[in-house]
Amino acid sequence: MDYYDQHVHTNFSFDSDEKMAAYLKLAGENFVSTEHLDYKALDDKSGDNLIDYEAYSREIHRLEEETGKHIFKGVEIGYFAGREPEIRAYLQRHDFDIKLLSFHRSPDFDFDDAIVSQMDPLKVADQYYRLMWKGINAFHDADVLAHFDYGVRKLNLTSGMFETTAGVLLTNILKLAVRYNMAFELNTTSMYKYHNIGLYDYAVEIYKQLGGKRYTIGSDAHDTSQYMRNYENAVDMLKAHDIHHVNVYRKNAMIIVPLDDVDEGIKY
Ligand SMILES: [Zn+2]
Repeated sequence: MDYYDQHVHTNFSFDSDEKMAAYLKLAGENFVSTEHLDYKALDDKSGDNLIDYEAYSREIHRLEEETGKHIFKGVEIGYFAGREPEIRAYLQRHDFDIKLLSFHRSPDFDFDDAIVSQMDPLKVADQYYRLMWKGINAFHDADVLAHFDYGVRKLNLTSGMFETTAGVLLTNILKLAVRYNMAFELNTTSMYKYHNIGLYDYAVEIYKQLGGKRYTIGSDAHDTSQYMRNYENAVDMLKAHDIHHVNVYRKNAMIIVPLDDVDEGIKY
């Protein structure tokens, strides 16, 4: 089986306008989208970002009929401290083939906000990984730990600076990811758009040394131009760490895709 992108947004996410049908023109036999589910502070006027699950399911059904392809359902859970009951309740009522766990927001800001680049980078890193450490202890019902570096994407930290500030915390976080069978995501937006390849080299080795065996490659596409972006580069990184498979998810199933086969003819 060919690998397919495990982190993709369509217009069922609040921050994408791309139609699922457009991705399907590029996709092989299988496709999954992973839509944002973000609970925020209760007094946040912008409101929670939920998925219109009925419409999402209808569109998937319609496109499966039209294209004959398999379309899987995915969610990117944006963890928010204190909203765990709502997250759990939503996931109990709605089925997904793959659940990504992401850490985007502190109580006061999104780590992607412009204000973050004016803050002390080492303080931001420390704050981000403390939040992730607490969060992953409180909530870990997910298949994949997505973009472990989201909070430091814009900070231009060297791996040395990163290790000094957040190395111990990240190691403890990855220990829990391994314990709870969560895959490590190679997020190619982080790696190649935000130039965090060094941090991925560092973290993937820790995850592997801790016994982690599950890896996904996700572009984090918000439009079709990003679909499967830099996939081959991420494969090369895995191989450089002597890792020779990637994983894809189906409801209640984790599938191993050997890289040495996928290489031969990448179809997506
Ligand atoms: Zn995403």
